[in-house]
Amino acid sequence: MLVKTEAIILKTMKYRDTSKIVTFYTKEYGKLKGIAKGARTAKNKFGSALEPMTLSMLVIYKKEHRDLHLIAQCDAINSFKNLTEDLDRMTTALAVIELINQVTHDEEHNLALFALLSETLSALNSSLKNYSSYLHSFRLRLASLFGYAPNFEVCSECGNPLVIDNGEKQYAFQVARGAVFCNHCCMPSDSSTSIRQNVASISISAQGLQILRRLLNAQINSLSNLEFDIQVGNQIDELLRLYLRYHFEGLKPLKSTELFHQNRAAS
Ligand SMILES: [Zn+2]
Repeated sequence: MLVKTEAIILKTMKYRDTSKIVTFYTKEYGKLKGIAKGARTAKNKFGSALEPMTLSMLVIYKKEHRDLHLIAQCDAINSFKNLTEDLDRMTTALAVIELINQVTHDEEHNLALFALLSETLSALNSSLKNYSSYLHSFRLRLASLFGYAPNFEVCSECGNPLVIDNGEKQYAFQVARGAVFCNHCCMPSDSSTSIRQNVASISISAQGLQILRRLLNAQINSLSNLEFDIQVGNQIDELLRLYLRYHFEGLKPLKSTELFHQNRAAS
């Protein structure tokens, strides 16, 4: 069956002498893999439409009960060219597509996830600063779409709205429940955490909690305006890394962000 759908390229790999196997996240069918015959020859008819992070219009011969399909045509709609302009922005975009590739299964249609992915790449492409906010926000919204929406609004114990001041207060975020305790119900006794064995809670500052709320709820194209210092950023990064690893079984550390940290350490 010949089908046509918008698709974002997640990954490509060499196949035989002249072809490529391309992994797409498509609007109509979720994740799909296809063979692009001749994509590595001088006459490559696909041009740049199969480059990772590109939004393309894909025409594919889709075979039932097969996990590899034949790509008939692919034309770039938006290459999001700014994404590859600098290392910070590129590693953020690569982390987003790596994450979606890890947590999705083939041919599970999810229109909201496609919209989140394309909106995130588009906003990141237009942004000028605070790139890490896009990855943090993407992780929070991804978890929400899979049924693990965290609650940063009310205490998970007493149900009272969390009163957030800007002082030194620390709150306790419970990784398993995606919930926060108010100061009356629980003070974090120990900020150290380990996955599965003792998933109690991770400590988060009042400012961190405020930023998390906005990362979850703000318009994606306004995320560049979020200002927070590096300690808060690190705290949020750690919290989200643990949160996703807990809820998405088998999630591997993202290669793109590891590369990023290595580069940072080296520079
Ligand atoms: Zn409480």
